[in-house]
Amino acid sequence: MEMAGLCFLSALVFLFWCWIGHIYRRARCCPGFVGAPGKERAVAAGPSPVALLITAHPDDECLFFAPALLRLGAQRLPVRLLCLSTGNFYNQGEVRKKELLQSCAVLGIPPYHVTILDHRDLPDHPGVQWNPELIAELILRYIKMHQINLVMTFDENGVSGHVNHSALYYAIRRLYSERKLPNECQALILESTNVFRKYISILDLPISWLKPHNVMFILQSHEYQQARAAMFCHQSQLLWFRHIYLYLSRYMVINTFHLLSR
Ligand SMILES: [Zn+2]
Repeated sequence: MEMAGLCFLSALVFLFWCWIGHIYRRARCCPGFVGAPGKERAVAAGPSPVALLITAHPDDECLFFAPALLRLGAQRLPVRLLCLSTGNFYNQGEVRKKELLQSCAVLGIPPYHVTILDHRDLPDHPGVQWNPELIAELILRYIKMHQINLVMTFDENGVSGHVNHSALYYAIRRLYSERKLPNECQALILESTNVFRKYISILDLPISWLKPHNVMFILQSHEYQQARAAMFCHQSQLLWFRHIYLYLSRYMVINTFHLLSR
């Protein structure tokens, strides 16, 4: 009886892994943009995207957005980064600026495509609400200056719940609802998952695949190593729990985005 149960369990595990493999291959066969029909075409259509990732702190780019950056890079789509603070909460701003440039180089973003703001009203602080009007103005100026037509940033929960992350969403939301974004510019919002899904790495793939999304990026194992290498550039941030994060977080291998709509 025990043997039968063990065989049944093994078969279930085997089928589960086959299913993950099937989803992975299916998603990978459509490089870059994978999502609901129609919406994915809306993102991929039009002039070739000049993408902009907007983050709040140095290290957000590899802790949360590495799959998107590496897959867009693999398709040779130019990506810029606008980081709204130097991450100076522990007075390490200067060090963290250098670490960010190194991390971006690993992720395929050259230094001349990286802009790091150091604005007195936008401190790196979990207790300070950034003014969405100010952020919106800074972002819009950047978008127009560099003719950006694809913006990526956090959703309202900011993956980790940091208020500086959420502030970016509210700024983009504001620009979008007030119709200030250029017509050809679309915004992709990174889905925040619950804690369970956040820390099951690639095992989240079936859930990510089944749940509604517009765009999904998945990394291969060598690309995952590249994402880890990018985080290792942030030596000042490599505390013990970050090492666990690098192994367990689904954001190191999977990004799912929703298109912002009015
Ligand atoms: Zn952050």
